[in-house]
Amino acid sequence: MPSTAEHDGVVFCGADPLTVAGGQSNAADRQPVLVDPNSYGKPAATADQPFHLPGPHNHGQASLFEDDEPTPLERSQESQLARGATATLTPTRYIEGGNRQAVAAAVKAVLDLDATQAILTLPLDYQWFRSPGDLDYLITTLADVAHIKAIGLGAGGNPLATKGTVTALRCLISSLDRIALIRTDLAGLDAYAHGALFAAIGMQTGMRHIKPPGGGGPSTPNNRNVTTMVLHPQLMDYFKADVLQVRYGKLLGLLCHCSVCDGRSLLRFGHNYSDQEEADRHNIATWLPWAEDLQGATAGDDRIEVWRQLCYDAVQAHQDANEQLRNPDAFKAPRWLKTWAGLPD
Ligand SMILES: [Zn+2]
Repeated sequence: MPSTAEHDGVVFCGADPLTVAGGQSNAADRQPVLVDPNSYGKPAATADQPFHLPGPHNHGQASLFEDDEPTPLERSQESQLARGATATLTPTRYIEGGNRQAVAAAVKAVLDLDATQAILTLPLDYQWFRSPGDLDYLITTLADVAHIKAIGLGAGGNPLATKGTVTALRCLISSLDRIALIRTDLAGLDAYAHGALFAAIGMQTGMRHIKPPGGGGPSTPNNRNVTTMVLHPQLMDYFKADVLQVRYGKLLGLLCHCSVCDGRSLLRFGHNYSDQEEADRHNIATWLPWAEDLQGATAGDDRIEVWRQLCYDAVQAHQDANEQLRNPDAFKAPRWLKTWAGLPD
């Protein structure tokens, strides 16, 4: 795992480790490690069952006769610590758009947990960010929660592709203290620039946002269906390997000078496990310097400006790439990138 900045850390999510840019650590001698409870693919959160708690007591409350026993929620936290986590994530179920009772129930339960150790996970459907009333509810409700709030963004497709989502997410991040963004893509860097404590950027597409329960199939591809996603260093966007090959054709190379590629072309990747693994390492080696640029800037306006300029340059690079390819329609800057660059959402 590449790590040069002192605030790097790792989130383990099933078998798939997620690298963290930014982060919080009280232990200077080791990286913070979190274990993603991966509780989102189950039935969605309700007021009665905000958490996924396996076992005989599948609810958030201890019975009247078990006052001295740890609650199922406490047991879930203890098991994460036993697996080496430096802090714990609540196993919150997927929270559907506008389900305020589910948020209230998760918040109420987490208040009983140690705020220096327990992180409130909030896997929120993107519809939360399409309603100003719901956004206000989140900000008001979470403002008094001392625990770190780890937001995950859920949608069947890319949650950032919907108009207004990027701006609303940024509003939530910048309105609250002790907030983080997990299971995300480069949106994690936007969040970090705008005051998030840390961000967990997924190595694979399925780990870069949260799918709604029952929607979109498994989050990890099966053996016969490997999709290699490649982060374009100038365009700051992920592309399927074959899409890059088609756009650039055989005549042009797309040379990459990251520590993994060392001058080789990004058109070398195919859709197989071995290439996917190498592309994942290229992807990290590409965004890690951006994260380090942000970490090197003073928090606040300076860091925001470093990020905005990076994104603005990437928007401009779309024009350059299209000119190089003599095709004005080859690449179009995506909505989220333009918003990160300070252009209207
Ligand atoms: Zn590379």
